Amino acid sequence: MINDIDLKHLKRCVELAKEALEAGDEPFGSVLVSADGDVLAEDHNHVAGGDHTQHPEFALARWAANHMTPEERAKATVYTSGEHCPMCAAAHGWVGLGRIVYASSSKQLAEWLEEMGVAAPRVRNLPIQEVIRDTAIDGLVPELAQEVRELHRQFHSKRK
Ligand SMILES: [Zn+2]
Repeated sequence: MINDIDLKHLKRCVELAKEALEAGDEPFGSVLVSADGDVLAEDHNHVAGGDHTQHPEFALARWAANHMTPEERAKATVYTSGEHCPMCAAAHGWVGLGRIVYASSSKQLAEWLEEMGVAAPRVRNLPIQEVIRDTAIDGLVPELAQEVRELHRQFHSKRK
């Protein structure tokens, strides 16, 4: 179930995705929220420099490993504009973070990129559940997913 607090954090993720797009990065944004509801860290995609592992969910997993106890991590939530890729889902699992809430799914992204004529990435678009177990996962939110789709459309139309 996605409540109003979840929606607020997801909207921030979409804003961060917009910031990424404006910086020439792929439009993805994520927020790490504690059990008490405090925003601990946020990030957006930083792949424009050529390092394609610079995803926000990966950065937040590392931040969590360095700044939070295992108990705090297990109760924290990661919000993200687009469902974790397999690399980020694995990082989330390895550091023991808790719930994941996403605005748009990996399946949607794959469909959008195909529609836009963008070649499929080498790393497969797997659902998080196929990468890590025992994780509470909520998503998607159709109206926010449409905003995310538009950001991807803008990103890929600039590159053509
Ligand atoms: Zn990723």
